[in-house]
Amino acid sequence: MEITFLGTGIMGAPMARHLAQAGYSVTAWNRTAEKARPLVEHGVRVVEDPAAAATGADVVVTMLTDGEAVEDVMAEAAPAAKEGAIWWQASTVGVSGTEALVALAEDHGLTLVDAPVLGTKGPAEAGELVVLASGPEAAIETLTPLFGAVGSKLLTFREVPGRASNFKLVMNHWVLALTNAIAETIAFAEGVGIDPGCFLDTIADGPLDVGYAQTKGPGMIGSDLPVAFPLKHALKDADLILEAGDRHALDLVLAQAVRERLAAAAVEGHGDQDMGMVVAAARATSAR
Ligand code: NAP
Repeated sequence: MEITFLGTGIMGAPMARHLAQAGYSVTAWNRTAEKARPLVEHGVRVVEDPAAAATGADVVVTMLTDGEAVEDVMAEAAPAAKEGAIWWQASTVGVSGTEALVALAEDHGLTLVDAPVLGTKGPAEAGELVVLASGPEAAIETLTPLFGAVGSKLLTFREVPGRASNFKLVMNHWVLALTNAIAETIAFAEGVGIDPGCFLDTIADGPLDVGYAQTKGPGMIGSDLPVAFPLKHALKDADLILEAGDRHALDLVLAQAVRERLAAAAVEGHGDQDMGMVVAAARATSAR
């Protein structure tokens, strides 16, 4: 099976590597070519443009920033793929974004499987992502061994692409709300003269604890976090959550507040840093 991997960023590079290590023939492309080159050592063929990458592909994987980037790249790649090839769309693009990509797939005779992933840089590196898949059953079955190469769990939804993306947004609502709750609690503690470490120590191992607070909290307190999930992507996901909420006339007050805080952090220059750096915007607000 010939696999094309488009987008070798934080998530895409380890996913492409795991596919190659599982024995698949993988050809990768990334807009910034030097980010893809280290994959050569792991048996991935790296090429210079999306069409060259997709030539003769049985499966095309997209792991790009957003729906617009996926549309642009696939407009070049799709015509080169084999007739009837399967498109594993792994980027987080939301529900409207997925609908636009389904139309693009149909125009080119591709079968789109909407299969975003849960987990961040660490799980991607370890091949322990959770894959969420919706789309035609036969195509999901074909992709299942590939999902197994990058992940440790597969959740399948109804046949309609978009169901998996909807669930991905539900999970990201939780992650974004949690991150912002931790950030604001740290900023609040600091603002009222309490050591925020005391907050983490006090919840540790009790009913109010969450692993995420203990993993991210110390780095947030020290403003020293390796980039696992860029803040600008969290902002994009907050917009996707709000858009999905609007479709269903839901009043997502919390998601709106999270969005504003992330937007403030991005304006302050933290967009390329880890999402946990939203703590900087929480601090700025509590200092006003
Ligand atoms: P990333 O490291 O920023 O990678 C983004 C990729 O998209 C890079 O390959 C980038 O190319 C490419 N790209 C962006 N705009 C483009 C354009 N206009 N044309 C062509 N290529 C473009 O992000 P990531 O963390 O791997 O995230 C990828 C996707 O997975 C996003 O949808 C994100 O929301 C989702 N996701 C992320 C995580 C996480 O924890 N990081 C977890 C689950 C899902 P360059 O290298 O040239 O910039």
